Amino acid sequence: MEQTTVVIIGAGPAGSTCGLLLRKRNIDCVLVDRATFPRDKICGGGLTPRSYKLLSQLLPQFRYDYNSVHRLKLCIEGEQVLDFQMASEIRIVKRRQFDAQLLEEYQKNGGQFINEAMTVIEEKDGQVIVTLKSGRQIACKYLVGADGANSRVRKYLNPKSDHGILCMEQYGPKSKDNAIVGNLSRFYQQGYYYSFPNESYDVQGFGDMRTTPQTFRKVLNQMGCPDLKALGAYIPQSIDYPLRRNIILIGDAGGFPNRLTFEGLYYAFLTASHAATAISSGTSFAFVNKKVFDNKKMEERVARIFYNDFGLTVLKFLCKNVPSLITWAFNRAAN
Ligand SMILES: Cc1cc2nc3c(=O)[nH]c(=O)nc-3n(C[C@H](O)[C@H](O)[C@H](O)COP(=O)(O)OP(=O)(O)OC[C@H]3O[C@@H](n4cnc5c(N)ncnc54)[C@H](O)[C@@H]3O)c2cc1C
Repeated sequence: MEQTTVVIIGAGPAGSTCGLLLRKRNIDCVLVDRATFPRDKICGGGLTPRSYKLLSQLLPQFRYDYNSVHRLKLCIEGEQVLDFQMASEIRIVKRRQFDAQLLEEYQKNGGQFINEAMTVIEEKDGQVIVTLKSGRQIACKYLVGADGANSRVRKYLNPKSDHGILCMEQYGPKSKDNAIVGNLSRFYQQGYYYSFPNESYDVQGFGDMRTTPQTFRKVLNQMGCPDLKALGAYIPQSIDYPLRRNIILIGDAGGFPNRLTFEGLYYAFLTASHAATAISSGTSFAFVNKKVFDNKKMEERVARIFYNDFGLTVLKFLCKNVPSLITWAFNRAAN
């Protein structure tokens, strides 16, 4: 059986970032992914300022391509209530390229990558043993689950773990104004419609607590989008698994995407760095990541207040009467 210090399952932004940070601290790790990169990932690809600032702080040498967007339009019930220039750009990346570039960076730093699916997790004599599809086995001190929304590592910790919110999107023709568009409605169940302009197409998406292909199509039709091939993926939201010292969940696997905005990339980078810090310092992840765990509880409360009739009426009033307050609040949250 092979031996290493850390095995990371999943080479998305969370797994590759964690691997890179461990390699920089000279900690042996093996990164495993069932997909052959470059691979597709259903995602708007929006990197908020706090997200790309954290990334450049963690990996200052990492370079990637993106479409720079400065303008945001907010609609409520299809009516535009705000159109403003953001204080800092939002970067829209193509996940296929972005994720492959991150993995390449990990490998350039001497990281080992195995292109195989992990199928079984066992624990024996204080070690975690993972078995890959080919039967290859690796024993490690720490197992990091960065295997996304349908995480097997998470299911090992809690077989009844919740999937999260289904979010669907399609790739439509590029709009002229290179602006992000969002729409909120009292008919959506704690979710929203969005359009993110990439370099050559717009990503048009919708997700709420009860998304189905039918509600997705209805919302997109209401927003004037053409009927195109749509794809969906879950955005996990809850921390419904036991916290363990030697098995750590990061990114989507850990249920970290923001409850209100569905932003997941920031939390993928943040929890990846917290996992690397916990492992290299011998501290528990529960301790290093405490603020993120605490914030999840607050997000739940804010989402309930924000996404209801009263919340939307107040927001509409403020957008029309004190737009500077809303743009200030947006810029503060995004940074
Ligand atoms: C429709 C939609 C739109 C979104 N838009 C945005 C956005 O604009 N901005 C934003 O910040 N976030 C967005 N998100 C969230 C964002 O996509 C995720 O938070 C982010 O991808 C999480 O990265 P990750 O590394 O945790 O997981 P992933 O990127 O999902 O990577 C997980 C990896 O694990 C691998 N894997 C899974 N199981 C196994 C296994 N058994 N063995 C080996 N490998 C395995 C997979 O192949 C995959 O490569 C969106 C999500 C959705 C669904």
